[in-house]
Amino acid sequence: MMSNERVLFVDHTGQIGGAELILLDVVTSRQNASAFLFETGPLSAALAARGLKLIISQHGSGLSRFRRDSSVLSALPLAGRLAAIVVEIARAAWEHDFVYANSQKAFVLAALANVLVRRPLIWHLHDIISSAHFGAAQRRMQVLLANMCAMRVIVPSEAAAAAFVDAGGRRGLVEVVPNGIDLKSERTLRSELRQRFGLPAGPLVGVFSRLAPWKGQHVLLEALARLPDVGCIIVGDALFGEQDYAARLRTMTAELGLVDRVHFLGHRNDVPSLMQAVDVMVHPSIDPEPFGRTLVEAMLSGVPVIATDAGAAPDILERGRAGTLIPSGDPRALAAAIASVLTTPEQVATQIDYAAQRARAEYSLGRMLDTIGAVITKVRLGAVA
Ligand code: UDP
Repeated sequence: MMSNERVLFVDHTGQIGGAELILLDVVTSRQNASAFLFETGPLSAALAARGLKLIISQHGSGLSRFRRDSSVLSALPLAGRLAAIVVEIARAAWEHDFVYANSQKAFVLAALANVLVRRPLIWHLHDIISSAHFGAAQRRMQVLLANMCAMRVIVPSEAAAAAFVDAGGRRGLVEVVPNGIDLKSERTLRSELRQRFGLPAGPLVGVFSRLAPWKGQHVLLEALARLPDVGCIIVGDALFGEQDYAARLRTMTAELGLVDRVHFLGHRNDVPSLMQAVDVMVHPSIDPEPFGRTLVEAMLSGVPVIATDAGAAPDILERGRAGTLIPSGDPRALAAAIASVLTTPEQVATQIDYAAQRARAEYSLGRMLDTIGAVITKVRLGAVA
């Protein structure tokens, strides 16, 4: 593993979403690494705590809230700031052997910086490149820059790889490296956790994702309206400017008469423990997920999973053997799946044992870090397509 080379990690956000949790694991074993961030936030503090030298852009503050699917025209006033960030990245890259871009915005600007200062560039692409998340011009620009400048594009699933290739990306660049997760929390009795967190007894489901329309928390609320005895915790907050959606979820909760049963817990840093307090973990995304860390976290925690049958979920859940798959955006199907999991404990017990075994075998942190290390070594040795 190439831990001594000077790697410059680049990310556009100071927030910690799923992609940034992965970055925090990837940087941990590296010496001589620096991180270039567009803005400060919890991520800059966490990276500094891991010993990275931090370089914070003078021009990037607030850009992470700029919508990825915004038109090129609406992005024009930002052009000066973006150009200044490109120069900043190029200057930082000068002092490093590699550049490792951890987000779409980081990659695009790092690729442009690559024209000024050539360094091997790796893109860890954590998204599904599709019209659901990116405008047509953005998709074209991303794949064009990837095909021209990236030495490797790391994606977390075959679904993300297929989307990149469908958008015009070169298949030969792609390395599929499933996310790896190391859960440190002890298994604790559900009843004990309910008491600790002040949660009610009785059937309880949970969703553990940032609040965003495509994460589909509204589908769960509609399903709960059909399940009068089931409570729910909604864990997570609007991290990237989706405050309107967060407000809409609260309005919906009131309109559907769910205020006594639905508990909004906001962003939490104790998800692995909280997850063990629920009877079912629901992942109701309405667009395909590139991965879905919370699926694996629930599998490792011995909590049954219900997830939308799209993107990486059918692979992770082995087409239904390690969890229940439901159609996208269908509250009736979700309600039926929740009722079924709650009322068939023997069937569920077999499923969660298998799921835990599968998660440990396929999605370990060690495996992810070794594979990424091998990709970096391959790039270093020049053995690239
Ligand atoms: N998460 C968290 N606190 C919260 C909500 C979510 O720490 O309040 C974590 C969650 O446990 C998971 C990650 O954020 O590890 C989300 O990753 P995922 O791949 O599910 O979604 P993404 O945000 O990358 O789209």
